[in-house]
Amino acid sequence: MKKQYRYCPICATKFVLRQLYDEKQLVCPKCGYIFWQNAKPAVCGFIIRGNTILLVRRAVPPATGTWDVPGGFVKEHEHPEKAMVRELQEELGVRATVKGFFGFYMDLYGGHNGPTSAVLNIYYLVSLPPSARLQPTDDISDARWFSLSRLPKHISFKHIHEAIRDWKRGKKE
Ligand SMILES: [Zn+2]
Repeated sequence: MKKQYRYCPICATKFVLRQLYDEKQLVCPKCGYIFWQNAKPAVCGFIIRGNTILLVRRAVPPATGTWDVPGGFVKEHEHPEKAMVRELQEELGVRATVKGFFGFYMDLYGGHNGPTSAVLNIYYLVSLPPSARLQPTDDISDARWFSLSRLPKHISFKHIHEAIRDWKRGKKE
């Protein structure tokens, strides 16, 4: 994973691998920049009513046309809860309320025509105003409620299956 980045983003000198603490890191031998490689934080909205879940259809790569949980990447200085509310406003035109934290799910994003990034998916339990009219826009083309026992065939990412599995387990306990 570490070798896919070759040049310092500050001064464009070729990176070297250097032992730092317990791991080898990409370090710039000229300016000293250390390229720490962490998962990118993304927020995912679990919007569940009874036995149904709201999923959105992706209009952009990767996984165009598949069903995803609403959400997106957190901006650099943004609190994840704010990112969650912002993404739901952008994608569905609704003012959502974050009700609680559900869990963290690791996954990969990208691939096909480019490198992948590790993603830290932050799942929140979210509610929408009861009368909210969903207006799919931005990077999604549709939004629909699905029965948790009859999900669509094409789910965008592995983490969605894992989170739904955990939700179902929690319900049984
Ligand atoms: Zn540098």
